[in-house]
Amino acid sequence: MRGKYIVLFCLAIILSSGIKVEAAVYVTGWDLVDIGKHLDYDGTSTYMNYVVAGASTWNGYKSGVIRQDSALTIKDVDIVDVNANNGWSGMTYQSTKKIELNKYYLSGASNAKRTNVATHELGHALGLAHSTSNSIMDSGISGHTTIQSMSQNDRDSYDYAYSNY
Ligand SMILES: [Zn+2]
Repeated sequence: MRGKYIVLFCLAIILSSGIKVEAAVYVTGWDLVDIGKHLDYDGTSTYMNYVVAGASTWNGYKSGVIRQDSALTIKDVDIVDVNANNGWSGMTYQSTKKIELNKYYLSGASNAKRTNVATHELGHALGLAHSTSNSIMDSGISGHTTIQSMSQNDRDSYDYAYSNY
């Protein structure tokens, strides 16, 4: 692993010396994080254990940001299920502060896919936009569900979004 990082570092130096590199920060310009820099969630989704796993992944990078709503906190995002043949496994809405997880696609999906969708939608609630194919924030379903597979784009995007909460 160490050797791999050294190679990537050298590549970054070569690329920065004249060749245009695609930006590593992909943010939406909005988020559902409260002024206390927390994203407190609650809701009626039957996939809540996958949301818990997704929260744990993001919190593995920045601890304590995403929290399950308690009696002492005000909910920042409501997580609900829908059942619609609309092409989306999950959707996150700024206006209604809602994450919808779509049973139409998730009911027959693997645990890995469910975890990926829940983690990805939490990323949108954190203010992250679609990123690259090696990222949790890939626009399609990816195998990226853990802190180990969180890409540098995911991390840089979260850092940037966090600095604007
Ligand atoms: Zn998305």
